[in-house]
Amino acid sequence: MIRHHPDDSLLLRHAGGNLAAGQALLVATHLERCAACRQATRRFESIGGSLVLDEVPAELPRGTFEAVMARIDAPRPPPTQPAVSRHPSLPPGMNWPRSLRHCRISRWRPVAPGMRWSRVKLADAPHANVFLLRIAAGSCMPVHTHSGEELTQVLFGSFDDGRAVFMAGDFDCTDSTVRHQPVVRADSECICLASVDGRLVHDGVIARWIGALIGI
Ligand SMILES: [Zn+2]
Repeated sequence: MIRHHPDDSLLLRHAGGNLAAGQALLVATHLERCAACRQATRRFESIGGSLVLDEVPAELPRGTFEAVMARIDAPRPPPTQPAVSRHPSLPPGMNWPRSLRHCRISRWRPVAPGMRWSRVKLADAPHANVFLLRIAAGSCMPVHTHSGEELTQVLFGSFDDGRAVFMAGDFDCTDSTVRHQPVVRADSECICLASVDGRLVHDGVIARWIGALIGI
């Protein structure tokens, strides 16, 4: 059962197409597994649609209709093949999110004892800071806070950061008000997808070195 969801503000911005690419990818990955948030998003989309319909009609320049019809009738260029990458190795029982199928995913790279990461490159936003973290059972991330928003979607396993337990399917949004240390539960490794807007602010030399290595 999913207990932690994006808040209404995030879903509203997602429905309106107003999220940065990395954040939109995180919310889309959550929506794949969460019927409640899909329903809320549809509600926001329909509210947005009715607001557009309520707009006072404006006079269009002469020839606008013909120009639009000509563009609709024009032959379309062949679709470009999106960069589809094979995902890195996964634990048995984990399904790869459909939202990531057009992303370029690097192989797992060790970053600290019990901790590996993989870069997620978005074709249309190469500078978005999105990555996968794979942390061994019973291991923990360094203590850190954030200079911007950090979105996390749990894909496999679970962790406890002292505020709550986050299970597969759960979503978390943190910022500079949250200083935490996610600890992976002992019964399974944990894989999370994360988008960082800003930088993680780490305590300790080793933790800062990890952040510099990942580029966050
Ligand atoms: Zn949800």
